Amino acid sequence: MNLDGKVAVVTGGSRGIGRAICIRLASMGALVYINYVSRPAAAEETQKFIHEAGGKAEIIGFDVAESSDVQAAFKKIIADAGSVDILVNNAGITRDGLMARMKESDWEEVINTNLKGSFLCAKAASRMMMKKKWGRIVNISSVSGVAGNPGQVNYSAAKAGLIGLTKSMAREYASRNITVNSVAPGYIETEMTDLLDEKSQEQIKSEIPLATFGRTEDVAGAVAYLVSDDGRYITGQTLNVNGGMYM
Ligand code: NAP
Repeated sequence: MNLDGKVAVVTGGSRGIGRAICIRLASMGALVYINYVSRPAAAEETQKFIHEAGGKAEIIGFDVAESSDVQAAFKKIIADAGSVDILVNNAGITRDGLMARMKESDWEEVINTNLKGSFLCAKAASRMMMKKKWGRIVNISSVSGVAGNPGQVNYSAAKAGLIGLTKSMAREYASRNITVNSVAPGYIETEMTDLLDEKSQEQIKSEIPLATFGRTEDVAGAVAYLVSDDGRYITGQTLNVNGGMYM
């Protein structure tokens, strides 16, 4: 699984699942652009891990939900690195709450970051991919988007929307040798799941056939497969990485 000479952009690559994806793609030889929006120190730490392992990584801060920022960022990446070959739309936020009490701003923030942000980045990256007649796009969805989850109507809608975006993009771009897939993680050990109290964590684990939370590396492995040559004939799919909690 060799990505020598490829340029990869990972949104929200500074920590959590995104960090593991950056480390994995860099270990395969890609030059990785680590995106963040508010915590530059986390991005620097990810870059340090990659450099210490002998990989190549740059940092690019921008808000995926802001169209002009996204366009400027991809313009800069292409000017500096000459290409964008792989895009992983991983940046995501939660603003959980029951629907009856959910504020419109909670709906908008989640849809804008998790869904619109992925559309904007995919649109910007795919221009270059079309020219090169090669590209790999992976959208990080969620078990919440495929199975639903109380307290997450905004998040589930955004993550289900990503699957629709994936399928339609896959059909539009296949003739240019650009594959577009989703990875839908279940519960993965990150700051997002650290927020759950111990009782909730045990309750959730009891509903997972593999009886444990996943690791960020489990998601990174699925992304690595889809962007590598081994995944060349896979497009428009959703790969569930969830310990069997949704089949
Ligand atoms: P995380 O630890 O909270 O990290 C989120 C990342 O997204 C950070 O790098 C953050 O940057 C970045 N980000 C947030 N808003 C952004 C914006 N507007 N523009 C650019 N970057 C932005 O998240 P995670 O748990 O690793 O989750 C990563 C992805 O997997 C998300 O899409 C999430 O929905 C999905 N997922 C996670 C789980 C899980 O169990 N953790 C399960 C299913 C799906 P800053 O640090 O600079 O703010």
